Amino acid sequence: MSGALRLEGKGNGCGYATGPAFVSAEPLSPCGDQISPSLEFEHLSKAIEESIAALEALIARTEPLSADILEFQIEMLRDPAIAEMAAEEIAKGQNAAFSWVAALEEYIAGFEQSEDDDIRARAVDMIDIRDRVLRALEGAPSIDFPAGSVFIGKDMAPSLFLAHDWTGGGGIVLEAGSTASHVALLARAKGVAMVVGVGSFSLESKTPVLVDGDNGFVIVHPGGADLAMAYRATKATPRHGLEARDSGVALNGAVEVLVNISDIDEIHSLDSAACEGIGLLRTEFLLSHAADLANEEKQFQLYSEMLKWAAGKPVTIRLFDLGGDKPLGGFGVEERNPFLGLRGIRLLLAMPVMLRIQVRALLRAAALGPLKVLLPMVTFPGEVEDTRRIFEEEAAGLADRHIAISMPAIGMMVEVPAAALTLDMFTSADFFSLGTNDLTQYLAAAGRDNPTVVDLYRHAEPALLRLIAQAVTAAHDMDKPIGICGDLAGNPAFLPALIASGIRRISVAPTQLQAVRMALAQAGMDG
Ligand code: PEP
Ligand code: MG
Repeated sequence: MSGALRLEGKGNGCGYATGPAFVSAEPLSPCGDQISPSLEFEHLSKAIEESIAALEALIARTEPLSADILEFQIEMLRDPAIAEMAAEEIAKGQNAAFSWVAALEEYIAGFEQSEDDDIRARAVDMIDIRDRVLRALEGAPSIDFPAGSVFIGKDMAPSLFLAHDWTGGGGIVLEAGSTASHVALLARAKGVAMVVGVGSFSLESKTPVLVDGDNGFVIVHPGGADLAMAYRATKATPRHGLEARDSGVALNGAVEVLVNISDIDEIHSLDSAACEGIGLLRTEFLLSHAADLANEEKQFQLYSEMLKWAAGKPVTIRLFDLGGDKPLGGFGVEERNPFLGLRGIRLLLAMPVMLRIQVRALLRAAALGPLKVLLPMVTFPGEVEDTRRIFEEEAAGLADRHIAISMPAIGMMVEVPAAALTLDMFTSADFFSLGTNDLTQYLAAAGRDNPTVVDLYRHAEPALLRLIAQAVTAAHDMDKPIGICGDLAGNPAFLPALIASGIRRISVAPTQLQAVRMALAQAGMDG
C-alpha cells in the first residue's frame, strides 16, 4: 500500500469508498437535544409569520371565494387565544410542533363536531393551517456535508446519515463508533462503506481518503495502486446489494423472509416481489425533522406508501423507537445512560401526545391494507396493555369523526431480557419479533455503540441462542407468531441455529436478502 497514512478499525463489509475528507469537529446532529422554551416560542412565532406571509401572497393571486378561506386561515393564525394556548404548552416543556398541534386540537374537534355544515367545513381549513405551520417548522436548514465526501468524525448521528444524499458515493470513518450501532446498521442497509473505531487522528478537510469497509482500514492520500485495487474490488462486489431482487431463489418456502426498512429510498430500489413483506419499519428514521413527529398527515402518507409498495403483503410498522442512540428533536431527558433510560415504548407512554398522533396515523393507514404494529423496548406486560388502550381510545375518536380506520394486530419487540424470559405473561401482545441487536447488548451488558466492548457480542451468542429458543417455545405454547428482525437473522452463519430453535419468519436488511435466501435454498428451507 502506498498511502502516507493507514488507519485500522472495524469495517462494515460494504466494499470501498473514495473521496475528499469532510472532517467534522463535533458529532453533527441536525437536531439539538434539549428544549429551550424561548427558542421553541421563537421557532413557532417565525413559522406562523412565514405561514401568514405565504397565505397573503396566495390571496394576491386568487379569486374572491378562495381569498375568503385564506383570510379566515390568516385570522386563525393571528388568534391570540391559540398563540396563548401554544405558549402554555411550550412553558410545560413541549416543543414548538407538539404545542402547536395541541393548541389547535380542540378547535379542530369543535369545528368537526358542529351541526352546521359551513362550520364543519372549516375543520379542513384548520387542519390545513396546522400542517402549513408544521411544514414551516421543518424549514430550519439541516446540517449536512458535501455529497461524495468521506465523513470523518468521532461519531455520527443516525439522522445526519439519513439527511445526507449518498447517491454520489462517499463513505464514513469514525474515531469511535461500533459496527452494531444504529448508524452502522443504516450504512450497511444502504451499502455505504464505513470503518469505525480507528482512534483519534488529525486530517485536513478535502484530503483524499480511501475507506475499505471490507477489511477495516482507511488510507489517507491513497496512491494509484490503492485506487486501482479499490476499483477492481468495487466492480467485483456490488455496493448496494439491492440487486437481490432478481436472485431467482424461490419464495414461499418454509421460512418466510421479509425486509427491514429504515429509509424510504430502500423501497424505491427494491421490488416487493423479492420478499414476503416488511417485517420491520423503523419509523423513527423515516422522518427528517422533529416537527414530523407531530404531523399525523405526513406519517399517514408514509405508511400508506409502504402498504402500496407491499401490494397486499404484510407491513409491520414499529412505533417510534426514540432514545438510546436515536435522539430526535430534543425529546427525552438528559440521561447518563440513555440505552437504559427513557427509550422506545417508555418514552412514548411518557409522551402520549406524540404517541397518540402516530397511533391515529397507523389506525387510518391500517384501513388501507394488512398493517401490523410493533412496540419497541417492551419490558412489562402493562406497557402493551396501556398502548392497546390508547389504540382503542383513538380508534373510537376517529370513528366518531367518521374517519375510516382498522384496528391492526399489535405485537412487541422482544429485545429486553426481562420480557424475553417472561413471554408467557404477554397475553395482550398479538405477535412477537426478536430484536437481537438490543437483546445482545442487554444480555452481555455491552453497549452496541461502544467499540471497546463490541467483541463481547460474540461471547454472548450462546446465551442469546438459548434465550431465543426459550422465547420461541413460549410463543408457540401461546399459539402466537414469533419471528426475528435483529441483524442476526441476516447472517447466514446463524440460520441453522435459528431454524433449529423453531424460527420460521425472519426479517433482514434489503442488502442481506440475497445471501439469506441462498443459504435457505441450500438448507432446503426455501420450499
Ligand atoms: C433490534 O434491536 O434488534 C432491532 C431490530 O431494533 P433496532 O436495531 O432498531 O434497535
Ligand atoms: Mg432494538
